[in-house]
Amino acid sequence: LLRAEAVRKSFGDHEVLKGVSLDIAEGEVVCLIGASGSGKSTLLRCLNLLEQVDDGDIWFDDREITDPRVDADAVRRDIGIVFQAYNLFPHLSVEQNIVLGPVRSRGESRADARARAHTLLERVGLGDRAGAYPDALSGGQQQRVALVRAIAMQPRLLLLDEITSALDPMLVGDVLDVIRDLRADGMTIVMATHEMTFAREVSDRIVFMADGRIEESGPPEQIFTAPRSPRTAEFLARHL
Ligand code: ATP
Ligand code: MG
Repeated sequence: LLRAEAVRKSFGDHEVLKGVSLDIAEGEVVCLIGASGSGKSTLLRCLNLLEQVDDGDIWFDDREITDPRVDADAVRRDIGIVFQAYNLFPHLSVEQNIVLGPVRSRGESRADARARAHTLLERVGLGDRAGAYPDALSGGQQQRVALVRAIAMQPRLLLLDEITSALDPMLVGDVLDVIRDLRADGMTIVMATHEMTFAREVSDRIVFMADGRIEESGPPEQIFTAPRSPRTAEFLARHL
């Protein structure tokens, strides 16, 4: 579905991605782990063109999306992203937040978009909150709305950047449940996370990043029980 080849990205003279290559198959759930500053967020942002890569290229289906002629907005309709901070529009209700994208950039009818918003809200346990404003919701509820807003766009790939790390531990579980559910539906997901237990349970593949490179990648069982790289082993020893 997506292929990144030798992607490089610098900020000033700081090279943050030093040639990252990654293949994501349709339906795959991939977790990016690694120390703070290793480049996880930057990689995710490059994958949906929020950052421009300096070198290397990224393919989505058969299209090179790093080609400057590509319409980045069109790409972002297919590749959704949810961040750590919920970023809901505070002046719009939950329903309005969700309906906006499908109506504005997918050209859906308001009625269809509202119907799907309600179905999705039911699924994440927020069926009765469609009319609420974001600041009346808990962090975990806001994050579930942010997920629904991304899914309502019917993306083919969903990028999740530490979406539970700003949450009270009590609220993390409900958000992780939504991700389990999406996975069961066959959604292709790439997520950066510090939740190692969850990463192990939910992912088909773990990608360990260190210093702007992929140090090691493999199935969770292998990475967590028999890492090949001493750096992976050292990281896991500190984070499990
Ligand atoms: P964390 O686990 O803390 O979220 P990360 O792996 O997501 O870390 P990145 O956010 O990708 O790491 O950052 C990698 C490096 O790039 C860091 O040193 C960061 O300071 C730097 N960086 C990221 N974005 C920018 C930017 N817009 N301008 C300058 N430097 C940046
Ligand atoms: Mg990050």
